[in-house]
Amino acid sequence: MKEFDYIIIGGGCAGLSLAYELDIHQKLKDKTLAIIEPRDEYKKDKTWSFWRVTPHNFDDCIKKSWGTFTINIPKNTKHVECLNTPYQTIDSGLFYQKIINKLKQNTNVNFFKSIREINTENSFVFNSVSDLEESKNNLWQHFSGIEIETNKDFFDDEIFNLMDFDCDQKDNVHFFYTLPFSKTKALIETTWISNLNDNSLKDYDKQLKNYIENKLKIKNYKINFKETGAIPLFHPKNIKKLNQMEIGTAGNMTRLSTGYTFLNIQEQSRYIRENIENITKTKIFSLDKKYQFLDNIFLKVLKNNPKKMAQIFYKMFNCPSNTVINFLSNRSSIYEDISIISKMPKWIFLKQLF
Ligand SMILES: Cc1cc2nc3c(=O)[nH]c(=O)nc-3n(C[C@H](O)[C@H](O)[C@H](O)COP(=O)(O)OP(=O)(O)OC[C@H]3O[C@@H](n4cnc5c(N)ncnc54)[C@H](O)[C@@H]3O)c2cc1C
Repeated sequence: MKEFDYIIIGGGCAGLSLAYELDIHQKLKDKTLAIIEPRDEYKKDKTWSFWRVTPHNFDDCIKKSWGTFTINIPKNTKHVECLNTPYQTIDSGLFYQKIINKLKQNTNVNFFKSIREINTENSFVFNSVSDLEESKNNLWQHFSGIEIETNKDFFDDEIFNLMDFDCDQKDNVHFFYTLPFSKTKALIETTWISNLNDNSLKDYDKQLKNYIENKLKIKNYKINFKETGAIPLFHPKNIKKLNQMEIGTAGNMTRLSTGYTFLNIQEQSRYIRENIENITKTKIFSLDKKYQFLDNIFLKVLKNNPKKMAQIFYKMFNCPSNTVINFLSNRSSIYEDISIISKMPKWIFLKQLF
Protein backbone atom coordinates (compact mmCIF):
# COMPACT_ATOMS: atom_id res chain seq x y z
CA MET A 1 0.00 0.00 0.00
CA LYS A 2 1.11 3.50 -0.81
CA GLU A 3 2.63 5.80 1.83
CA PHE A 4 2.23 9.59 2.04
CA ASP A 5 3.99 12.34 3.99
CA TYR A 6 0.67 13.90 4.95
CA ILE A 7 -2.88 12.59 5.14
CA ILE A 8 -5.97 14.76 5.42
CA ILE A 9 -9.03 12.88 6.64
CA GLY A 10 -12.14 14.61 5.30
CA GLY A 11 -12.03 16.74 2.17
CA GLY A 12 -14.61 19.27 3.34
CA CYS A 13 -14.07 22.90 4.23
CA ALA A 14 -11.09 22.43 6.56
CA GLY A 15 -9.42 19.56 4.67
CA LEU A 16 -9.58 21.30 1.30
CA SER A 17 -8.66 24.73 2.74
CA LEU A 18 -5.52 23.21 4.24
CA ALA A 19 -4.60 21.27 1.09
CA TYR A 20 -5.04 24.43 -0.99
CA GLU A 21 -2.99 26.55 1.41
CA LEU A 22 -0.16 24.00 1.35
CA ASP A 23 -0.31 23.67 -2.42
CA ILE A 24 -0.26 27.38 -3.29
CA HIS A 25 2.68 27.95 -0.94
CA GLN A 26 4.71 25.18 -2.61
CA LYS A 27 4.65 22.97 0.48
CA LEU A 28 3.60 19.97 -1.63
CA LYS A 29 6.39 20.21 -4.21
CA ASP A 30 8.51 17.55 -2.53
CA LYS A 31 5.90 16.10 -0.17
CA THR A 32 3.01 13.79 -0.88
CA LEU A 33 -0.55 14.23 0.38
CA ALA A 34 -3.49 11.82 0.49
CA ILE A 35 -6.99 13.27 0.99
CA ILE A 36 -9.56 10.81 2.30
CA GLU A 37 -13.06 11.84 1.27
CA PRO A 38 -16.00 9.43 0.92
CA ARG A 39 -18.31 11.69 -1.10
CA ASP A 40 -18.76 10.74 -4.77
CA GLU A 41 -18.97 14.23 -6.17
CA TYR A 42 -18.48 17.81 -5.05
CA LYS A 43 -21.46 20.07 -5.50
CA LYS A 44 -22.77 23.16 -3.73
CA ASP A 45 -24.03 22.02 -0.33
CA LYS A 46 -23.61 25.11 1.87
CA THR A 47 -23.10 28.85 1.89
CA TRP A 48 -20.43 30.08 4.29
CA SER A 49 -20.75 33.64 5.56
CA PHE A 50 -18.59 35.80 7.82
CA TRP A 51 -17.35 39.34 8.38
CA ARG A 52 -14.14 39.73 6.42
CA VAL A 53 -11.88 40.67 9.33
CA THR A 54 -8.84 39.05 7.72
CA PRO A 55 -7.81 38.21 4.15
CA HIS A 56 -8.49 34.70 2.83
CA ASN A 57 -7.82 32.71 -0.33
CA PHE A 58 -11.37 32.68 -1.67
CA ASP A 59 -12.28 36.20 -2.81
CA ASP A 60 -13.14 34.76 -6.22
CA CYS A 61 -15.74 32.43 -4.63
CA ILE A 62 -17.66 35.30 -3.01
CA LYS A 63 -21.26 35.28 -4.05
CA LYS A 64 -22.07 38.63 -2.44
CA SER A 65 -20.73 41.18 0.09
CA TRP A 66 -22.77 43.61 2.17
CA GLY A 67 -21.85 46.77 4.07
CA THR A 68 -25.07 47.07 6.11
CA PHE A 69 -27.28 44.70 8.04
CA THR A 70 -30.32 44.76 10.28
CA ILE A 71 -31.30 42.96 13.44
CA ASN A 72 -34.95 42.79 14.54
CA ILE A 73 -36.87 42.16 17.69
CA PRO A 74 -40.67 42.64 17.86
CA LYS A 75 -41.43 46.33 17.12
CA ASN A 76 -37.77 47.34 16.76
CA THR A 77 -35.18 47.22 13.96
CA LYS A 78 -31.56 48.25 14.23
CA HIS A 79 -29.45 49.16 11.18
CA VAL A 80 -25.75 48.39 11.54
CA GLU A 81 -22.91 49.33 9.16
CA CYS A 82 -19.99 47.03 8.45
CA LEU A 83 -18.27 48.77 5.52
CA ASN A 84 -14.74 48.19 6.90
CA THR A 85 -15.35 44.50 7.44
CA PRO A 86 -18.00 43.55 4.88
CA TYR A 87 -20.11 40.48 5.46
CA GLN A 88 -19.31 37.96 2.73
CA THR A 89 -20.95 34.81 1.49
CA ILE A 90 -18.98 32.06 -0.18
CA ASP A 91 -20.62 29.64 -2.57
CA SER A 92 -19.33 26.20 -1.54
CA GLY A 93 -19.76 24.95 -5.13
CA LEU A 94 -17.25 27.53 -6.40
CA PHE A 95 -14.96 26.84 -3.43
CA TYR A 96 -14.84 23.06 -4.09
CA GLN A 97 -14.37 23.56 -7.83
CA LYS A 98 -11.52 26.05 -7.43
CA ILE A 99 -9.62 23.82 -4.99
CA ILE A 100 -10.19 20.52 -6.80
CA ASN A 101 -9.07 22.09 -10.12
CA LYS A 102 -5.87 23.38 -8.49
CA LEU A 103 -5.06 20.16 -6.64
CA LYS A 104 -5.60 18.06 -9.79
CA GLN A 105 -2.55 19.75 -11.29
CA ASN A 106 -0.31 18.47 -8.50
CA THR A 107 0.66 14.81 -8.98
CA ASN A 108 1.76 14.67 -5.32
CA VAL A 109 -1.87 14.99 -4.22
CA ASN A 110 -4.14 11.94 -4.38
CA PHE A 111 -7.74 11.37 -3.33
CA PHE A 112 -9.01 8.15 -1.72
CA LYS A 113 -12.45 7.10 -0.52
CA SER A 114 -11.24 5.25 2.57
CA ILE A 115 -8.21 5.37 4.86
CA ARG A 116 -7.96 1.58 4.48
CA GLU A 117 -6.64 2.11 0.95
CA ILE A 118 -3.33 3.56 2.17
CA ASN A 119 -0.55 2.89 4.64
CA THR A 120 -0.76 5.45 7.45
CA GLU A 121 2.17 4.27 9.60
CA ASN A 122 4.71 6.96 8.71
CA SER A 123 2.41 9.87 7.85
CA PHE A 124 1.36 12.98 9.69
CA VAL A 125 -2.45 13.07 9.81
CA PHE A 126 -4.75 16.11 9.77
CA ASN A 127 -8.18 14.89 10.81
CA SER A 128 -11.39 16.84 10.15
CA VAL A 129 -13.87 14.14 11.13
CA SER A 130 -15.50 15.08 14.42
CA ASP A 131 -16.27 12.66 17.22
CA LEU A 132 -19.44 14.25 18.58
CA GLU A 133 -20.74 13.20 21.96
CA GLU A 134 -24.42 12.27 22.02
CA SER A 135 -25.81 14.11 24.98
CA LYS A 136 -29.28 15.54 25.46
CA ASN A 137 -27.74 18.58 27.13
CA ASN A 138 -25.57 19.76 24.27
CA LEU A 139 -26.71 22.81 22.35
CA TRP A 140 -26.82 22.96 18.56
CA GLN A 141 -27.43 25.73 16.10
CA HIS A 142 -29.76 23.95 13.71
CA PHE A 143 -31.28 25.48 10.64
CA SER A 144 -32.73 25.11 7.21
CA GLY A 145 -32.53 27.65 4.44
CA ILE A 146 -33.91 28.01 0.96
CA GLU A 147 -32.65 30.17 -1.85
CA ILE A 148 -35.74 31.62 -3.46
CA GLU A 149 -36.30 33.54 -6.67
CA THR A 150 -39.18 35.96 -7.08
CA ASN A 151 -40.69 37.02 -10.41
CA LYS A 152 -40.62 40.73 -9.46
CA ASP A 153 -37.99 42.89 -7.72
CA PHE A 154 -38.53 42.40 -4.04
CA PHE A 155 -35.33 42.52 -1.97
CA ASP A 156 -33.05 45.42 -1.07
CA ASP A 157 -29.80 43.64 -1.95
CA GLU A 158 -27.65 46.26 -0.18
CA ILE A 159 -28.78 45.15 3.29
CA PHE A 160 -28.94 41.69 4.77
CA ASN A 161 -30.87 40.67 7.85
CA LEU A 162 -28.65 38.98 10.44
CA MET A 163 -31.36 38.04 12.91
CA ASP A 164 -35.10 38.54 12.90
CA PHE A 165 -36.35 37.46 16.33
CA ASP A 166 -39.90 38.57 15.58
CA CYS A 167 -41.12 34.96 15.41
CA ASP A 168 -42.31 32.10 17.63
CA GLN A 169 -39.52 31.19 20.09
CA LYS A 170 -41.16 28.06 21.60
CA ASP A 171 -39.04 28.38 24.77
CA ASN A 172 -35.83 28.21 22.73
CA VAL A 173 -33.90 30.75 20.69
CA HIS A 174 -35.23 31.23 17.18
CA PHE A 175 -34.57 33.73 14.42
CA PHE A 176 -34.77 34.10 10.65
CA TYR A 177 -31.73 35.12 8.60
CA THR A 178 -32.02 36.63 5.11
CA LEU A 179 -29.21 37.12 2.61
CA PRO A 180 -30.49 39.00 -0.47
CA PHE A 181 -28.16 38.12 -3.36
CA SER A 182 -30.06 40.32 -5.82
CA LYS A 183 -33.41 42.10 -6.00
CA THR A 184 -35.06 38.80 -6.93
CA LYS A 185 -32.96 36.17 -5.14
CA ALA A 186 -32.33 35.55 -1.45
CA LEU A 187 -31.35 32.83 0.97
CA ILE A 188 -33.83 32.71 3.85
CA GLU A 189 -33.02 30.55 6.85
CA THR A 190 -34.91 29.54 9.95
CA THR A 191 -32.38 29.05 12.76
CA TRP A 192 -32.82 27.56 16.22
CA ILE A 193 -30.47 27.18 19.13
CA SER A 194 -31.66 24.17 21.10
CA ASN A 195 -30.62 20.76 22.38
CA LEU A 196 -32.37 19.14 19.37
CA ASN A 197 -34.74 17.19 21.64
CA ASP A 198 -37.94 18.93 20.55
CA ASN A 199 -38.97 17.64 17.14
CA SER A 200 -41.63 20.31 16.79
CA LEU A 201 -38.85 22.84 16.07
CA LYS A 202 -37.81 20.89 12.99
CA ASP A 203 -40.78 21.56 10.69
CA TYR A 204 -38.45 23.95 8.89
CA ASP A 205 -40.33 23.93 5.55
CA LYS A 206 -43.51 25.07 7.25
CA GLN A 207 -41.65 27.79 9.20
CA LEU A 208 -40.01 29.09 6.02
CA LYS A 209 -43.24 29.07 4.01
CA ASN A 210 -45.06 30.92 6.79
CA TYR A 211 -42.27 33.52 7.15
CA ILE A 212 -41.92 34.13 3.41
CA GLU A 213 -45.63 34.33 2.69
CA ASN A 214 -46.97 36.02 5.82
CA LYS A 215 -44.06 38.12 7.13
CA LEU A 216 -42.20 39.03 3.96
CA LYS A 217 -45.47 38.93 1.99
CA ILE A 218 -43.98 37.11 -0.99
CA LYS A 219 -46.57 34.90 -2.63
CA ASN A 220 -44.90 33.94 -5.91
CA TYR A 221 -41.47 32.40 -5.71
CA LYS A 222 -39.55 29.31 -6.70
CA ILE A 223 -36.95 27.45 -4.65
CA ASN A 224 -33.53 27.10 -6.32
CA PHE A 225 -31.49 25.57 -3.50
CA LYS A 226 -31.96 24.18 -0.02
CA GLU A 227 -29.46 23.72 2.81
CA THR A 228 -30.09 22.12 6.16
CA GLY A 229 -27.55 21.68 8.90
CA ALA A 230 -26.69 21.59 12.56
CA ILE A 231 -23.55 23.15 14.01
CA PRO A 232 -22.46 21.73 17.38
CA LEU A 233 -22.14 24.48 20.01
CA PHE A 234 -19.83 22.22 22.02
CA HIS A 235 -16.41 20.83 21.31
CA PRO A 236 -16.03 17.35 19.78
CA LYS A 237 -14.30 14.77 21.96
CA ASN A 238 -11.61 13.67 19.49
CA ILE A 239 -8.77 12.03 21.39
CA LYS A 240 -5.28 13.42 20.87
CA LYS A 241 -3.07 10.99 18.96
CA LEU A 242 0.62 10.97 18.18
CA ASN A 243 1.37 12.39 14.72
CA GLN A 244 -2.18 13.62 14.31
CA MET A 245 -3.74 17.06 14.53
CA GLU A 246 -7.48 17.81 14.41
CA ILE A 247 -8.65 20.54 12.04
CA GLY A 248 -11.90 22.39 11.31
CA THR A 249 -14.88 21.61 13.51
CA ALA A 250 -13.01 18.59 14.89
CA GLY A 251 -10.16 20.97 15.81
CA ASN A 252 -12.47 23.28 17.81
CA MET A 253 -12.56 26.00 15.15
CA THR A 254 -16.24 26.79 15.79
CA ARG A 255 -17.00 29.86 17.89
CA LEU A 256 -19.43 28.30 20.32
CA SER A 257 -21.60 31.37 20.83
CA THR A 258 -22.19 31.96 17.11
CA GLY A 259 -21.36 28.84 15.06
CA TYR A 260 -18.96 30.88 12.88
CA THR A 261 -16.16 28.57 11.75
CA PHE A 262 -15.13 29.34 8.15
CA LEU A 263 -12.65 32.15 8.79
CA ASN A 264 -11.16 30.35 11.80
CA ILE A 265 -10.51 27.39 9.51
CA GLN A 266 -8.64 29.70 7.12
CA GLU A 267 -6.48 31.02 9.96
CA GLN A 268 -5.80 27.50 11.19
CA SER A 269 -4.73 26.45 7.67
CA ARG A 270 -2.36 29.43 7.44
CA TYR A 271 -0.84 28.57 10.83
CA ILE A 272 -0.30 24.92 9.85
CA ARG A 273 1.28 25.94 6.54
CA GLU A 274 3.67 28.31 8.36
CA ASN A 275 4.71 25.49 10.70
CA ILE A 276 4.50 22.51 8.38
CA GLU A 277 8.25 21.80 8.33
CA ASN A 278 8.17 21.29 12.08
CA ILE A 279 4.62 20.04 12.43
CA THR A 280 5.27 17.19 14.91
CA LYS A 281 6.56 19.73 17.44
CA THR A 282 4.10 22.51 16.69
CA LYS A 283 1.55 23.67 19.25
CA ILE A 284 -2.08 23.15 18.30
CA PHE A 285 -3.76 26.25 16.88
CA SER A 286 -6.65 27.31 19.09
CA LEU A 287 -9.05 30.21 19.48
CA ASP A 288 -8.12 32.62 22.25
CA LYS A 289 -9.02 31.09 25.65
CA LYS A 290 -10.96 34.23 26.63
CA TYR A 291 -13.59 33.43 23.97
CA GLN A 292 -13.96 29.89 25.27
CA PHE A 293 -14.55 31.31 28.74
CA LEU A 294 -16.97 34.03 27.61
CA ASP A 295 -18.83 31.74 25.19
CA ASN A 296 -19.35 29.12 27.89
CA ILE A 297 -20.97 31.73 30.13
CA PHE A 298 -23.00 33.04 27.21
CA LEU A 299 -24.31 29.55 26.40
CA LYS A 300 -25.23 28.93 30.04
CA VAL A 301 -27.19 32.20 30.02
CA LEU A 302 -28.83 31.14 26.78
CA LYS A 303 -29.78 27.71 28.14
CA ASN A 304 -31.34 29.15 31.29
CA ASN A 305 -32.91 32.29 29.82
CA PRO A 306 -33.96 31.55 26.23
CA LYS A 307 -36.74 34.15 26.37
CA LYS A 308 -34.26 36.93 27.15
CA MET A 309 -31.86 36.16 24.29
CA ALA A 310 -33.49 38.26 21.58
CA GLN A 311 -33.10 41.35 23.79
CA ILE A 312 -29.55 40.36 24.72
CA PHE A 313 -28.45 39.99 21.08
CA TYR A 314 -30.21 43.23 20.20
CA LYS A 315 -28.56 45.14 23.04
CA MET A 316 -25.14 43.82 22.08
CA PHE A 317 -25.49 45.85 18.88
CA ASN A 318 -25.82 49.04 20.95
CA CYS A 319 -22.01 48.91 20.96
CA PRO A 320 -20.19 50.38 17.95
CA SER A 321 -20.47 47.93 15.07
CA ASN A 322 -16.67 47.39 14.81
CA THR A 323 -16.63 46.36 18.45
CA VAL A 324 -19.36 43.76 18.05
CA ILE A 325 -17.95 42.41 14.79
CA ASN A 326 -14.46 42.15 16.30
CA PHE A 327 -15.93 40.35 19.29
CA LEU A 328 -17.96 37.90 17.19
CA SER A 329 -14.92 37.31 14.94
CA ASN A 330 -12.40 36.71 17.78
CA ARG A 331 -10.59 39.97 17.15
CA SER A 332 -11.68 42.12 20.08
CA SER A 333 -9.41 44.04 22.40
CA ILE A 334 -9.94 43.93 26.15
CA TYR A 335 -11.64 47.37 25.91
CA GLU A 336 -14.02 46.03 23.30
CA ASP A 337 -14.75 42.97 25.48
CA ILE A 338 -15.58 45.24 28.39
CA SER A 339 -17.79 47.38 26.19
CA ILE A 340 -19.76 44.28 25.11
CA ILE A 341 -19.98 42.90 28.66
CA SER A 342 -21.24 46.27 29.91
CA LYS A 343 -24.26 45.98 27.58
CA MET A 344 -25.25 42.59 29.03
CA PRO A 345 -27.70 42.19 31.92
CA LYS A 346 -25.14 41.82 34.71
CA TRP A 347 -27.07 39.84 37.27
CA ILE A 348 -28.08 37.12 34.78
CA PHE A 349 -24.48 36.71 33.60
CA LEU A 350 -22.96 36.85 37.10
CA LYS A 351 -25.27 34.07 38.27
CA GLN A 352 -23.77 31.71 35.67
CA LEU A 353 -20.28 32.15 37.11
CA PHE A 354 -21.17 30.40 40.35
C1 LIG B 1 -25.21 23.92 6.28
C2 LIG B 1 -24.09 24.62 7.04
C3 LIG B 1 -23.88 25.99 6.88
C4 LIG B 1 -22.84 26.62 7.56
N1 LIG B 1 -22.67 27.97 7.40
C5 LIG B 1 -21.64 28.58 8.02
C6 LIG B 1 -21.42 29.97 7.82
O1 LIG B 1 -22.23 30.65 7.17
N2 LIG B 1 -20.33 30.54 8.40
C7 LIG B 1 -19.44 29.82 9.15
O2 LIG B 1 -18.44 30.38 9.61
N3 LIG B 1 -19.66 28.52 9.38
C8 LIG B 1 -20.73 27.87 8.85
N4 LIG B 1 -20.92 26.54 9.06
C9 LIG B 1 -20.04 25.85 10.02
C10 LIG B 1 -18.73 25.35 9.35
O3 LIG B 1 -18.09 26.39 8.67
C11 LIG B 1 -18.96 24.22 8.39
O4 LIG B 1 -19.58 23.15 9.05
C12 LIG B 1 -17.67 23.71 7.75
O5 LIG B 1 -18.05 22.92 6.67
C13 LIG B 1 -16.79 22.94 8.73
O6 LIG B 1 -15.70 22.41 8.03
P1 LIG B 1 -15.09 20.98 8.39
O7 LIG B 1 -14.06 20.69 7.39
O8 LIG B 1 -14.75 20.93 9.82
O9 LIG B 1 -16.31 19.96 8.18
P2 LIG B 1 -16.93 19.53 6.79
O10 LIG B 1 -16.91 20.63 5.84
O11 LIG B 1 -18.24 18.90 7.13
O12 LIG B 1 -15.92 18.41 6.26
C14 LIG B 1 -15.80 17.14 6.81
C15 LIG B 1 -15.58 16.19 5.65
O13 LIG B 1 -15.31 14.88 6.17
C16 LIG B 1 -15.93 13.94 5.32
N5 LIG B 1 -16.09 12.70 6.09
C17 LIG B 1 -17.11 12.33 6.90
N6 LIG B 1 -16.85 11.12 7.44
C18 LIG B 1 -15.64 10.74 7.01
C19 LIG B 1 -14.80 9.61 7.25
N7 LIG B 1 -15.18 8.64 8.07
N8 LIG B 1 -13.60 9.56 6.63
C20 LIG B 1 -13.18 10.55 5.81
N9 LIG B 1 -13.93 11.66 5.56
C21 LIG B 1 -15.14 11.75 6.15
C22 LIG B 1 -17.22 14.59 4.92
O14 LIG B 1 -17.74 14.03 3.72
C23 LIG B 1 -16.78 16.05 4.74
O15 LIG B 1 -16.40 16.32 3.40
C24 LIG B 1 -21.99 25.88 8.42
C25 LIG B 1 -22.24 24.52 8.61
C26 LIG B 1 -23.28 23.90 7.95
C27 LIG B 1 -23.52 22.42 8.20
